[in-house]
Amino acid sequence: MVDLHNRLYDDHAYDLDTEPMSWWRDSCAVPQFLYSPLQDDRISDVAVIGGGVTGLNAALRLARDYGQLVTLLDSGYPGWGASGRNGGFCCLGGSRLSELSIARSLGAEEAHRFQKSQLDAILHVEQMLDQLGLDVDRHSKGELVVAHSPRQAEAMREEAPLLAQKLGVGADFYSPSALKEQGAHISGHYGGLHLKAGFAMHPLKYTTGLATACHEAGVRLCGQSDVLALSYEPTGRVRVHCLEGSVLAKRVLLATNGYSSERCPPVMAGRTLPLLSTILVTRPLSKQEQQAQGWWSDLMAYDSRNLLHYFRLMPDGRFLFGMRGSCNASEAGQKRFESEVRKEFNRLFPAWAGVEHDYFWSGLICMTASGFPYIGPVEGAPNIWAALGYHGNGLAMGSWAGAQAADILASKMRHDALPAAFRQPLKTFPFPALRKLYIRAGILGLGLLDQLP
Ligand SMILES: Cc1cc2nc3c(=O)[nH]c(=O)nc-3n(C[C@H](O)[C@H](O)[C@H](O)COP(=O)(O)OP(=O)(O)OC[C@H]3O[C@@H](n4cnc5c(N)ncnc54)[C@H](O)[C@@H]3O)c2cc1C
Repeated sequence: MVDLHNRLYDDHAYDLDTEPMSWWRDSCAVPQFLYSPLQDDRISDVAVIGGGVTGLNAALRLARDYGQLVTLLDSGYPGWGASGRNGGFCCLGGSRLSELSIARSLGAEEAHRFQKSQLDAILHVEQMLDQLGLDVDRHSKGELVVAHSPRQAEAMREEAPLLAQKLGVGADFYSPSALKEQGAHISGHYGGLHLKAGFAMHPLKYTTGLATACHEAGVRLCGQSDVLALSYEPTGRVRVHCLEGSVLAKRVLLATNGYSSERCPPVMAGRTLPLLSTILVTRPLSKQEQQAQGWWSDLMAYDSRNLLHYFRLMPDGRFLFGMRGSCNASEAGQKRFESEVRKEFNRLFPAWAGVEHDYFWSGLICMTASGFPYIGPVEGAPNIWAALGYHGNGLAMGSWAGAQAADILASKMRHDALPAAFRQPLKTFPFPALRKLYIRAGILGLGLLDQLP
């Protein structure tokens, strides 16, 4: 497949025909109706481009709660992108900036609103699961942040009591021996912070459940419908063009995150920075194997590195281990990176060095120049809106952002009612043609920082 969108990575990252077989894909059926392409010319109130958690939450709210006529288009199928292949951590996050720099750039009150939106995002997903009655193999009460250096451990120890005051989230610091007692032992680490917010889930069961709910609410879901161009009618409406059909819509929502096109619309060129994130999943580990390593906790966890590792023991005993740090999405590049990930896994969990991994896959996350997620109009493209840029933490935040975008598009909420963090201009990256270089330099620099004691 040749990518017509001039995107940043090797075509392999966008190739709909060679979707990696993830554990999620192998343990969740994707209904056939999610593959039906757009094959006619139709009219909608809103056309949503991108069927991940952002697009699906937006479409569902627009159709079910506001009675809007919605068409959702995805190049693959709803859930094909990062939303159906992520680590399943429904957790805090969404920005790449530290708390201090957020407070410096937005002021204390807006920084607090941004923090609160992260909790609201988790709550939003919880409500969706309850409302729709979705079984998503949920586990983990909160998340564990493991300190990879004594300095990080000290910072966490000091931070723990403050988090309850600042965020209203319970947080306990555990020494390495206390973690070991709880079955959360990881080699060469210095304790960890248990944040009592968030939970883990099967992400494809979530997106498939959302897509089914959209279908039932009357959303026209179109898989295999790559949007190739957007044009304006004299009325100001936007025509969304696919190979075999089009949608004429009053408004369009770009919910394409790490898979955003550089050409569709052309004003989006250089405004996003996609990054690869990769996951391996082992075969189920026996109770004895879990004991041997000292990890039987069901807490989802990540470490304090800049190039972080994220991991969790899933309900069926498989262990999921994720990592960033690759910028080569070609088949050969991914094969090489698989060995890197495996080496890291073996180093951190030496008792499992001989345990086979059954799955390895990757997907794209999305950074913005401001460092914040963006929900708002696309500058220079009337009636086209975007919700994207969750910096690798979009399962909760993207779900919430989609719902907020729906409120705004249906005129139920003013755009300026959003916390300021989400309204920072979606600027073009400086020298966008050099983004791959930034990524390489970033990986190198952050890797070195992570070596500091
Ligand atoms: C390996 C990995 C692990 C991750 N782990 C976590 C985690 O544990 N917790 C967490 O919070 N976040 C995680 N993330 C990030 C999270 O998955 C994303 O932030 C989130 O899914 C973004 O959702 P989205 O709906 O905005 O975009 P996506 O789910 O990426 O969906 C975008 C969709 O747009 C479609 N599209 C793009 N262009 C077009 C076009 N021209 N026409 C039609 N369709 C188009 C694509 O096909 C795609 O399906 C992870 C990401 C990856 C890749």
